[in-house]
Amino acid sequence: MAEVLVYVDHVDGTVRKSTLELLTLARRIGEPVAVALGNGAADTATVLAEHGAVKVLTHDAPEYAEYLVVPKVDALQAAVEAVSPAAVLVPSSDEGKEIAARLALRIGSGLITDAVDLEAGDEGPVATQSVFAAAYSTKSRVCKGVPVITVKPNSAAVEATTAAGTVEALPVAFSEKATGTKVTGRTPRESTERPELTEAAIVVSGGRGVGSADDFALIETLADSLGAAVGASRAAVDAGWYPHTNQIGQTGKTVSPQLYIAAGISGAIQHRAGMQTSRTIVAINKDAEAPIFELADYGVVGDLFDVVPALTEQIKVRKG
Ligand code: FAD
Repeated sequence: MAEVLVYVDHVDGTVRKSTLELLTLARRIGEPVAVALGNGAADTATVLAEHGAVKVLTHDAPEYAEYLVVPKVDALQAAVEAVSPAAVLVPSSDEGKEIAARLALRIGSGLITDAVDLEAGDEGPVATQSVFAAAYSTKSRVCKGVPVITVKPNSAAVEATTAAGTVEALPVAFSEKATGTKVTGRTPRESTERPELTEAAIVVSGGRGVGSADDFALIETLADSLGAAVGASRAAVDAGWYPHTNQIGQTGKTVSPQLYIAAGISGAIQHRAGMQTSRTIVAINKDAEAPIFELADYGVVGDLFDVVPALTEQIKVRKG
């Protein structure tokens, strides 16, 4: 069976969920071979094996932390040359997309970004993308070279399965360009204990209807009762009620969680562009004519200041 390279997104050996999703998708088109780089790379092997990686290629060097993406591209290129895979899968983060694009250029391959599904095809893997603010789905395949495909988080449910996960050292010779862009400083983001927005299985978002920065506490309390991430519309962010990093939409982040709860958000096309592929959408809005109800699976017409606390209370009661 053909091997499929999966680029491992991890922090000091802790593998991100988006990588486990990639392993699930990779199994549809071949045997997953994971590529883990940097500090803690070898520590990823156990969890990768538990999710179907037949092999884990590892390499650690200070360059991965000290310079931007090129060392990782060098390593992935070395893995492609060593394995001759049927495809290379990379998580669709900002960094992942840059790595994938540079790799595709290096190896003379076609690239598909932001896939939301993947299936085996007679002439290579077929990727589904959700385009034009999720108004259309397209299917495409790479016609030249080894397909390089980035896949959005939450595109597949993680499925555990046991595989060998044999660890092998990947020989990597860094190119001249590897040290071209140095990281000069790092400031850890203030931790909220909440999941990362683009990876969260549940997102609770607030819009202009929330009315103030202080009242975003209501949205946060609901989110915390569900173990969810907090999002915001651009109107809420522009008003200074929530950080720009939490903006969802065309000019913000794209999320695709299992559950998206929108409170006090009208559902403008630019907001939809960032959340329309969510599995289940719940809208809370006091205006029954709000466009968000056109795409919501469940809608509550009501004042969020009544509905959100009542919902939070019920969730807490049911969770015990
Ligand atoms: P509004 O449209 O003002 O809606 C507020 C809603 O809250 C209303 O439906 C109202 O009925 C409801 N409401 C009010 N009070 C309550 C209450 N007490 N209880 C329940 N409901 C209540 N927007 C984004 O979100 N993300 C983007 O990335 C983005 N990018 C953009 C890019 C461009 C180029 C442009 C032109 C616009 C962009 N926008 C974006 C802005 C977008 O067009 C909308 O203006 C914005 O999404 C509106 O935010 P909102 O739904 O919170 O506010």
